[in-house]
Amino acid sequence: MAGANAFVIVLGCYAEYINEDHVIPSPGGCLVARSKWKATVQVFPQHYRGTGDVGQLFEALSALANLRSDIKEYGKLRLKYPDIWPMQILSRDGEKLRWASEAFDLVRLYRDLLRSIWVWPCDPDDWSQLNRKREALRLLMGVVDFTRMLSEEHLPAGMPQGRFQTVWRRIRSHVPDATPGSFATVFPSWPSGQFVYMPRNRFQEGLYLLFRESWRARICGSCQAHFVAEKRQTQYCSSKCAAAAKRRNDLEWWHRKHGKRSNRQRKRGKNEHL
Ligand SMILES: [Zn+2]
Repeated sequence: MAGANAFVIVLGCYAEYINEDHVIPSPGGCLVARSKWKATVQVFPQHYRGTGDVGQLFEALSALANLRSDIKEYGKLRLKYPDIWPMQILSRDGEKLRWASEAFDLVRLYRDLLRSIWVWPCDPDDWSQLNRKREALRLLMGVVDFTRMLSEEHLPAGMPQGRFQTVWRRIRSHVPDATPGSFATVFPSWPSGQFVYMPRNRFQEGLYLLFRESWRARICGSCQAHFVAEKRQTQYCSSKCAAAAKRRNDLEWWHRKHGKRSNRQRKRGKNEHL
């Protein structure tokens, strides 16, 4: 395999990794634990097709996170970003229900999990929230044993695995022999001294890229949409939202300044009539 190493692509440069040992305040004021570990996970692209534009991949992830619970919006997402389908539903006859209305619940589950990991907990001591997010991330990245998860009997209530099971019960009511696909793998590579993550689809590839630079995952300060920021200082999803926020701030400033003055004038006017 002369070309094996040539297939190694480092998606995203070395990134900051979360580490519970060190807690520093982030610009938003919430406590985020992180240190500067050098990441050792690389990606081999043999098992998925397509490289393409990272910006478009991030756009598709944001669109999935912002998907409304409306079947028409689901149809629009399918037309605009067909590659962002997050998980294969396999049967003896091949893949089933890809972008079908019967699989809408599965996409909504992925949407909700994506929303839940988009912003990590502000409180590092909230272990139940942290565990929920970790489980959600494992599921989204496809590094859990989906088949085993479906056969487990006592899953903790409110955890992502429980919802996954419920959604799959519904899928099997349509396709009785359906089994989950899109298992990604992480394995240690002795020659490179690194762990290798192998995404199985474009969704996992995009999520991995975002995971490596999770500071990019933001919620718009104006319209509350999920978006992927290009620069660290970006707070709004679009120039339209940034302009609307500026107008709001200017108006608030004007009311603070002139509101006080007009109150004073009103009082003075009253006294003159006395
Ligand atoms: Zn916005």
